[in-house]
Amino acid sequence: MTNQQPPGFPTDRLEQLRSGLSVVERRIDAACAAAGRPRSEVTLVVVTKTYPASDTRLLASLGVREVAENRDQDAAPKAADCADLPLVWHFVGQLQTNKARSVARYAHHVHSIDRSRLVTALSEAVLRAERPGLGCLVQVALDGGSAAGRAGVDPDRVGELADLIADTPGLRLDGVMTVAPLTGPLAGDPAAAFGRLAEIATAVRASHPAATMVSAGMSGDLEQAIAAGATHVRVGTAVLGARSPLG
Ligand SMILES: *Cc1c(COP(=O)(O)O)cnc(C)c1O
Repeated sequence: MTNQQPPGFPTDRLEQLRSGLSVVERRIDAACAAAGRPRSEVTLVVVTKTYPASDTRLLASLGVREVAENRDQDAAPKAADCADLPLVWHFVGQLQTNKARSVARYAHHVHSIDRSRLVTALSEAVLRAERPGLGCLVQVALDGGSAAGRAGVDPDRVGELADLIADTPGLRLDGVMTVAPLTGPLAGDPAAAFGRLAEIATAVRASHPAATMVSAGMSGDLEQAIAAGATHVRVGTAVLGARSPLG
């Protein structure tokens, strides 16, 4: 983990995390104020991917309660290591169906539901694990393309996947998620992308009023996400530092 931090940045890890968190908290406060939204409408989810469980533990000591991971092989041991902490675990990465059983053991929310096979696999896993309902968000692809292997479903397929989740035993439809697209007509315009997600979220809530989560915004674009109505921002780098290129 090569951490490139500005000069004068604290060398003690707890202080680094405290400093990163306070910068992000101030950005969220300011974005809420600018949008005329109460701060309580926005939840910070700290993305701890590539960083060790010891960082998750320090973050918990600083009051963080919501953490996210994107790879099961990293997340499963970390969640086990931190099982004594009062944390809510969000899974935000592309998920293979053969990892569903593992993810269902520790995750409270999966943000990356993008196909019906995954819904079936997670349902079976949750029922087998005898855990309370797993929160699911439909990941929306806003790149306007159709490249194989891309994350998310097209906007016009969100409704059917949302209905399927809502009708599937063991699962709960929590809302929608996106990552600002790097290609397509909305590339470079996170405000427009998050505005589109907000419209999709509104349409989903018309059929599923409890599906109130709108997961959008990362270190570089959390302000635009909050302006557009995001309820959950997923922030890694701005709290923990730059990840190594392979992370
Ligand atoms: C890594 C990741 C984030 C956090 O990104 P940062 O730019 O480090 O804040 C958010 N969402 C998803 C899906 C991610 O994979």
